[in-house]
Amino acid sequence: MYKRILVANRGEIALRIIRACRELGVETVAIFSEADRGAAYLELADEAFCVGPPKGADSYRKIDRVISAAEIGNVQAIHPGYGFLSENAHFNEVCRSCKIDFIGPTPEAMGRLGDKNTARKLARDAGVPVVPGSNGLIGDESEAVRVAHEIGFPVLVKASAGGGGRGMRVALNDLALKAALQQARTEAEAAFGDGSIYLEKYIEHPRHVEVQILADQHGNVVHLWERDCSTQRRHQKLIEESPSPGLSSETRVSMCEAAVRLIKAAGYTNAGTVEFIVDSQGGYYFIEVNARIQVEHPVTEMVTGIDLIKSQIRIASGEPLPFEQFQIVASGAAIECRINAEDPQKSFQPSPGKIERLIAPGGFGVRFDSHAHTGYVVSPHYDSMIGKLIVHQPTRREAVVTMLRALDELRVEGIKTTVPLHREILRHAAFVEGRIDTTFVERSGLTQ
Ligand code: ADP
Ligand code: ADP
Ligand code: MG
Repeated sequence: MYKRILVANRGEIALRIIRACRELGVETVAIFSEADRGAAYLELADEAFCVGPPKGADSYRKIDRVISAAEIGNVQAIHPGYGFLSENAHFNEVCRSCKIDFIGPTPEAMGRLGDKNTARKLARDAGVPVVPGSNGLIGDESEAVRVAHEIGFPVLVKASAGGGGRGMRVALNDLALKAALQQARTEAEAAFGDGSIYLEKYIEHPRHVEVQILADQHGNVVHLWERDCSTQRRHQKLIEESPSPGLSSETRVSMCEAAVRLIKAAGYTNAGTVEFIVDSQGGYYFIEVNARIQVEHPVTEMVTGIDLIKSQIRIASGEPLPFEQFQIVASGAAIECRINAEDPQKSFQPSPGKIERLIAPGGFGVRFDSHAHTGYVVSPHYDSMIGKLIVHQPTRREAVVTMLRALDELRVEGIKTTVPLHREILRHAAFVEGRIDTTFVERSGLTQ
């Protein structure tokens, strides 16, 4: 096991990793930007270094500064969390050349799966169903039109480097397709520095179901069942849960096995998530792999009892998985609500500022993963998520009740949050009955 690791992230996930390390007896080195100086969670690290000004690009994403902090901090490994450098294969390679373990897949496996278009090809070769679409990247407009006619409208124009719901456009006809191509390319260029585009059939009213994987460096690969992240707004996840309501056990098992096949074919190690779209007939189609820990990992932890962050660290340090597939049993139902500092009245614009009062919920079956507290100032420079509220109960119905109770207890004053929206969703008949798909929130007028 490592003696000391660097946590190359901020906010709730930095705190989550520090907590896991403390339990493992591993020392931590934190990094922070000028905007995060003095944040309370940094006190839990053994050491903390400033890596630059507030902008992520000048601090948390700045490879030379993060590596310098790792060198000065004398760590053996770096945990990248999610976002920032977590899916950056170049950073991963730099870590290797500096003889620092990157807690995640190898740069090679990341390269094979990080790019959505390449991952699609690998999935097809591994016998994993993919969404009908282009056989590779789209060159020009005429090629896009030809492919769209082959697969049929509506189509989804997607950026190969896309993430966080960006670089994606639906098109219903030729004219809209041409505009969508341009928009998706421009957005992807700006956000990811890569304007490569491919096409997928737009599956109507799909569910988003994803499979959590753990793979060690000794060839063992297991899945930790699925998470349903259909409760979304603008292709971004709001609520995640496990198990997925309304999935037949055949589909569930088949999908989890397909995910394991793909991970094995890619020679992928550490924690990863294989994302699928499930249509109304129960057909499932691969969409992408997230080669990192995910925001919603706690719901899987609650139902399986397996600490995913500790597992990541143990795998990276060379330990074999301590369990086999048949020992991974999912019990009960877990739900997570992402608490974002956003203003529902102003089309969910970020709502940074000082939290005048924060009271965290608690009690049986409740977990609140957050770095925020009374007096904490939410910075405008980063993602607006200030915490995750997670509940776990024997049944989904009970989990819904507990979540509503916990949302009532949660007090965040001084800034606007997504708490009122979560309350409405949790009370909505379609959600309560598990009749959710990725368009449910918007169709129900819950975000107006
Ligand atoms: P998950 O499936 O883990 O929820 P998301 O796509 O929501 O994945 O991204 C996880 C985190 O990383 C979020 O905080 C999101 O804002 C951030 N993120 C993802 N992709 C990007 C990106 N390209 N640029 C900036 N932040 C990103
Ligand atoms: P990101 O990298 O931004 O997470 P994904 O490819 O995972 O992008 O897609 C994000 C979301 O967009 C999905 O959860 C789903 O809601 C929607 N989506 C993606 N592909 C399709 C598709 N082919 N048909 C319908 N919806 C899709
Ligand atoms: Mg995704």
